[in-house]
Amino acid sequence: MPDTFKAILVSRDADKNQSVAVTDLTEADLMEGDVTVAVEATTVNYKDGLAITGKAPVVRRWPLVPGIDFAGTVLSSDHPDWRKGDKVILNGWGVGETHYGAYAGRARVKGDWLVPLPDGISAHDAMAVGTAGYTAMLSVMALERHGIVPKRGPVVVTGAAGGVGSVAIAVLSGLGYHVIASTGRSSEADYLRDLGAAEIIAREELSGPGKPLAKERWAGGVDAVGSHTLANVLSMTAYGGAVAACGLAGGMDLPSSVAPFILRGVSLLGIDSVMAPKELRLEAWRRIGTDLDVGKLAALSTTIGFDGIVDAARDIVEGRIRGRVVVDM
Ligand code: NDP
Repeated sequence: MPDTFKAILVSRDADKNQSVAVTDLTEADLMEGDVTVAVEATTVNYKDGLAITGKAPVVRRWPLVPGIDFAGTVLSSDHPDWRKGDKVILNGWGVGETHYGAYAGRARVKGDWLVPLPDGISAHDAMAVGTAGYTAMLSVMALERHGIVPKRGPVVVTGAAGGVGSVAIAVLSGLGYHVIASTGRSSEADYLRDLGAAEIIAREELSGPGKPLAKERWAGGVDAVGSHTLANVLSMTAYGGAVAACGLAGGMDLPSSVAPFILRGVSLLGIDSVMAPKELRLEAWRRIGTDLDVGKLAALSTTIGFDGIVDAARDIVEGRIRGRVVVDM
């Protein structure tokens, strides 16, 4: 009898009503790939929340095991880069969207999608960082490429108490930036200061319709919110500054104008973690190993078991999760 393992499966009926269930799978149920991994830790990202609740069309193959990232150990491999026993991380590449994902005891994926677990980081810690944290690092690297260094001035982080925001604050403050954290949860002020925020501003300062240009307040930003928030962040960015746009927690629209671009030379830097090329991923995870204080991961993450995934998915789309949620499988 083949080994079975638990998995979360989202399905939909003929009327496109979505349902979610826990089921038992075997390796024969997994999709194509050249590496099979024992999933040791995963996380609940905002996108996973959207997939499980059906609030946005993240799932594009039915039925599907959701879960966009995991860390684990290679069980078997036909890929030249990986051998049994290797410790690996996966983020994105459509896993948890079009390919069976992380919310199962095992995952079969393409070896090209995997990166090695950095030295000194456990599977649990890698998932405390997770796709949100790796995206935060991609955002920081984009700002650096644009010349936004600490001496240029403050950097704003929106959606500060969420996963991307929390890791962005920890990384940026560690690198010496003066970080302004924008949050809708004033109760999280101490948490954000402990992560390294120098100033905290209320979400409402940025979430309403704004002017094309406003007083210059920061040299750059990491925006996880989109919509009016991103428009206001751009309008308040100093001459020659840059904003890394990586999220849409507040909306997918961008009710802005060209004024910040053509009158202040501001740049909008797009961040995508899903299809990011391998060199960029390797560099982001290397930088996470060197530039993120692993000691802060305990403060910014909570740990749940497999049975807590569905509730956490509902909570994250309601904005009720602080920092990162790690799932120890
Ligand atoms: P979280 O839910 O952990 O954090 C989002 C934060 O945004 C919340 O904690 C909250 O912060 C703020 N927020 C929530 N709703 C609103 C709202 N209506 N208006 C303004 N602010 C709001 O999600 P993640 O940090 O994991 O992800 C953040 C965004 O980044 C998501 O949109 C996600 O899809 C996107 N993302 C994009 C990736 C990419 O490749 N580009 C990869 C990973 C994530 P607070 O309470 O502090 O105000």
